[in-house]
Amino acid sequence: MRCPFCDFEDTKVIDSRLVAEGGQVRRRRECLQCGERYTTFETAELVMPRVVKSDGKRAPFDEDKLRAGMMRALEKRPVSMEELEAAITRISHRLRATGEREVPARQIGELVMEELRELDDVAHVRFASVYRSFQDISDFRAEVERLEKAGHK
Ligand SMILES: [Zn+2]
Repeated sequence: MRCPFCDFEDTKVIDSRLVAEGGQVRRRRECLQCGERYTTFETAELVMPRVVKSDGKRAPFDEDKLRAGMMRALEKRPVSMEELEAAITRISHRLRATGEREVPARQIGELVMEELRELDDVAHVRFASVYRSFQDISDFRAEVERLEKAGHK
C-alpha cells in the first residue's frame, strides 16, 4: 500500500497482530523510501444489508426489533433466551453472508420462520400468522390443528 507520507508505493510490514478479539489485523508498516512508520487496520467487510420494506422504503436492520418480534412469538414458550440469542446470531450472520447491500424484509421474515420452526412449533405459527398473511385462513387453522394433535397447546 502507498505510503501516506511520501506516496511511495512500496512498504514493508514490520509487525502484524490480531486485535479486537481476532476480528481485526493491525499492521505496522515502514515505508521503503522515507522510512516513516504507520499503522493499518484490516477488517473483513461484512456489512449488514439494509432492509427493503414491502412499500419500497429502506431502513437499517434493527436487531432489537427482530428480538422483540421473536420474543412476542415465544411468549410463555419453553425456549431459553440463550436459544433465542443463538437464533438471532444465525439470522444476522446469514444476512451479512448474502453480501447484498439490500435485502427484502420478507427474506428476513423467512429466516425468522425457519429459526422459529426449529425452536418451537407454536411460536412458529404465531409468528407466521402475523408476519406472512396466510394464503387462506384455512391453512392457518389446519396448521394449528396439526399442532394441537401433535400435543402442543
Ligand atoms: Zn514514505
